[in-house]
Amino acid sequence: MNICSNCKTYTRSKSPICYDCYIKGERYVEGFSSFSFEKRPLNFIKGHIGECLIQNLFTSLGFTVFRYGIENNLTYINEYLEDSDFSRSELKVLTSRPDLLILNKEKKRIYFTEIKYRSDGKFKHEDLGEDYKYESTYIIILSKKGFKCIKASELKEVGEIKMSSTEYALSENKEFNLDKGFVRLIEEQASNIYSSISQISHI
Ligand SMILES: [Zn+2]
Repeated sequence: MNICSNCKTYTRSKSPICYDCYIKGERYVEGFSSFSFEKRPLNFIKGHIGECLIQNLFTSLGFTVFRYGIENNLTYINEYLEDSDFSRSELKVLTSRPDLLILNKEKKRIYFTEIKYRSDGKFKHEDLGEDYKYESTYIIILSKKGFKCIKASELKEVGEIKMSSTEYALSENKEFNLDKGFVRLIEEQASNIYSSISQISHI
């Protein structure tokens, strides 16, 4: 755990002073980043909300969903992992697990999915990290303008997906075969949720 060098309270890891000392005027301390307090936790929350929305969307339509990624179980132990005895490749296996495992019991099909939030809706294959191994994973990208869905192998071919493109809408995905009206409803709700989070952000 990390302690504020000024008042000795617990504060965010790697921060030299706490947020309370920062707002009370201990500004311009070397190594202090207001971003890590004001924006980073919100980015985590946006990610979690994205997974939660997609999980609910699929379970509502009869699919079974397991939260699988390390982010769900081990988000806050990431900093321990850095200092652990795990090798780089072992860490990679742990931290690159797909987020959700979605099961269609009727078709007896199982799908790995990565859930990503991008305000501008842009997503590149390289955003999955170097030597991404799960080529048959479906990448579901949430943005204020709707949900896209593309297989990792296909994303590798096209390189990048843009929100402006009319292709790859989750609602049109043949494999998942989802109620389009319901997907649009959740897209609208997601857009409202993400807009309100932007409004509470300090930066
Ligand atoms: Zn302090």
